[in-house]
Amino acid sequence: MFEPVLLKNIDVPDGHLLPTYEAGGGYQALKKVLREHTPDEVIDLVKESNLRGRGGAGFPTGMKWSFVPKRGDKPKYLCCNADEGEPGTFKDRIIMERDPHQLIEGLAVSAYAIGAKTAYVYIRGEYMTAIRRLEQAIAEAHQRGYLGQSILGSDFDFAVHIHCGAGAYICGEETAMLDSLEGKRAQPRLKPPFPAVEGLYASPTVINNVETLACVPHIVMRGSRWFREIGPDKSPGPKLYCLSGQVRKPGLYELPMGIPLRELVENNAGGPLPGRRIKAVIPGGVSAPVIPESGLDVGMDFDSLAAAGSMLGSAGVIVIDDSTCMVKVATRIIEFFHHESCGKCTPCREGLNWVVKVLRRVEAGQGEPGDLEQLDALCKGIFGNTFCALGDGAAMGLRAALKHFRDEFVAHIEERRCPFH
Ligand code: SF4
Repeated sequence: MFEPVLLKNIDVPDGHLLPTYEAGGGYQALKKVLREHTPDEVIDLVKESNLRGRGGAGFPTGMKWSFVPKRGDKPKYLCCNADEGEPGTFKDRIIMERDPHQLIEGLAVSAYAIGAKTAYVYIRGEYMTAIRRLEQAIAEAHQRGYLGQSILGSDFDFAVHIHCGAGAYICGEETAMLDSLEGKRAQPRLKPPFPAVEGLYASPTVINNVETLACVPHIVMRGSRWFREIGPDKSPGPKLYCLSGQVRKPGLYELPMGIPLRELVENNAGGPLPGRRIKAVIPGGVSAPVIPESGLDVGMDFDSLAAAGSMLGSAGVIVIDDSTCMVKVATRIIEFFHHESCGKCTPCREGLNWVVKVLRRVEAGQGEPGDLEQLDALCKGIFGNTFCALGDGAAMGLRAALKHFRDEFVAHIEERRCPFH
């Protein structure tokens, strides 16, 4: 039986308040590292755990931390990417609303490891409850000496600031987020230099996702071996899965990394709605290519999903049943990406514009012979030719829909209507 750790407080009354967090063992990890470990030992511990970033890219967290230069007179920054904008994803919001001290403790331990005295939590502005709860938690942590000067009598000083986004999906891209934090228009930066060397205000910066940071105190308290023993060796640890769409029990689930997608959807989330069949599942937010029902035995981890032609992404699992038109699904998703394109590079800005026009035509029953080949060609022109992953994600998603559900696209063109209406 798997015992949740990240969500263990979320249904506890007043779980967002400091006394409740402390009663459950909260801030013991911070005390432990300040008392017993050097910063390098904390980095080694996280490296040994093989914690991989939960924001989507899956980069090893300890390795990312170790890229921060040890010397130099510039300040170091820790940025928490809480701009959870991927449709189908709500895991970070739940942590911040129901257990914000878990994130603050994760920030403090991580900042100690990389030598940062300042952290910024870049949070999407729509998350009003999470913003208020985090502000309250930061004030509580200051009062108790978990934040501020000489934390718990050590020589570690650390402050956390909240920065609210204004609703742009592109701010979830880490370098666009840094530009936004600096007060500029949010657009992805050219890399190198990478943020670990030249990030916020041209200083060494580590950017980690909320769930990633929330894992850190548990690794400190339970050990890297405990973490590695959960799930596959190359993608270990507990994982938060957001279940939504046409499924009986949508919600947030904490289960081992690598659980089969079918088990997650059919057992944990209760399976399809009465009288319906599952047609497809998007496993990692709308950037992740759709998987047809026949592929649901894949493991929910970075490597298994990549091998199956999709990705874990933000683990926003969207279930689609047989009553839903896949042309409509693809059109809504591409409209989203087109709307959110920052406009910096031509293949994304112009390519998605054309894709939306063709898809809307096909969806309305006004498609023409050759439209699907044109969509194939547009995907080819976008994929691999854009400045950031937004364009690639859009092209990969559409390609998968065209590959697995081409018959539905053809039916719209041949019947000159949507067969689902
Ligand atoms: Fe902007 Fe799209 Fe280019 Fe990314 S791929 S930089 S979102 S225009």
